[in-house]
Amino acid sequence: MWIKDFSRPEEERNFILEETLKKNCELKDISEKVLNFEPLDFESALKLYREGDIFFLGELARKVKERIHGKKYYYTINRHINYTNVCVINCKFCGYHKRPGEEGGYTLEIDEILEKLKETPQLKEVHIVGGLNPRLPYEYYVNLVRKIRDSFPEIHIRAYTCVEIDWLSKISGKSVEEVLKELKEAGLNSIPGGGAEVFSERIRAELYPTKISSERWIEIAKTAHKLGIPTNATLLFGHIETDEEIIKHLLILRKIQEETKGFYCFIPLAFIPENNELSHLPGPSAHKILKVIAISRIILNNFPHIKAYWVFLGIKLAQIALLWGADHFHGTVIEEKISELMRGQQVMHLPPVEIQRLIREIGGEPAEI
Ligand code: SF4
Repeated sequence: MWIKDFSRPEEERNFILEETLKKNCELKDISEKVLNFEPLDFESALKLYREGDIFFLGELARKVKERIHGKKYYYTINRHINYTNVCVINCKFCGYHKRPGEEGGYTLEIDEILEKLKETPQLKEVHIVGGLNPRLPYEYYVNLVRKIRDSFPEIHIRAYTCVEIDWLSKISGKSVEEVLKELKEAGLNSIPGGGAEVFSERIRAELYPTKISSERWIEIAKTAHKLGIPTNATLLFGHIETDEEIIKHLLILRKIQEETKGFYCFIPLAFIPENNELSHLPGPSAHKILKVIAISRIILNNFPHIKAYWVFLGIKLAQIALLWGADHFHGTVIEEKISELMRGQQVMHLPPVEIQRLIREIGGEPAEI
């Protein structure tokens, strides 16, 4: 059965594309554009996402992925640091944060963070994100980056989402540009993609009205790109968003990338419906997750990487996502508090050898970056 054979030959894979195109001629023109790396307009992208069968979309996305990366799939030896869960914003989808003064709130001392990093052998990257904690002064953020850089001159420091950068600008009275320059001078290499959620004022008003707007997120990402600081980008999907809003979000990111070329990786984040105000929602199915990953690779063919973020997807689905257009398996992680506090279970550390095995099993070549 071809569905089970992940390393099946090219002719069999093409068969899936051809069979679908026989049934839906309108998709033919659209898929030709995809395979020629031409940008899709809103209507075409929406039609492809809605009408493309999951296997068809997967094959199309994988062809795009293979054009960019061949058989290579990437991972890194990284560690997450979630320095505080205290936050003044109250996003309805978030089960991680605690209000200031609420029981269960924590903040890590800088020395504590340095100790955690020292425990990690062969560390290549540290990924730092946290809540907006009014007790933490601006200096904490800059000193954290500087002290990590002093202790680990070689590692990649990916720290503070656009939401945190906006907060730093507010509490310091400095412009976003000044904050980013200061962090870069302290040793920052890049910024993570969180906080973009969905570029939709309708969703913002309903789920996170006090968080920065899409315009502000975009302005901060563009400022970082201008200063030579690459950023990631995310989409939080599987809650109340519409298909149109997903496509619009992806097309906005594509356009920014055409202008700045500053995005490194796109991370489709599957909403976790646990321990938050949206727990009544079912969360995205595996079917939806794979379709969103595939359409992301197809639309964002000007992004270097699409991530299969195993921390949110689970290891098994993330492995399959590598066959639906994702090329980056994130990393070893070690400790991640956001999904841990939402799901009430510890995130497993994935040793490099296990990531390599998962990649080889689907016929890929693991590459550490
Ligand atoms: S998602 Fe981020 S900004 Fe929103 S409540 Fe949680 S920690 Fe705060």
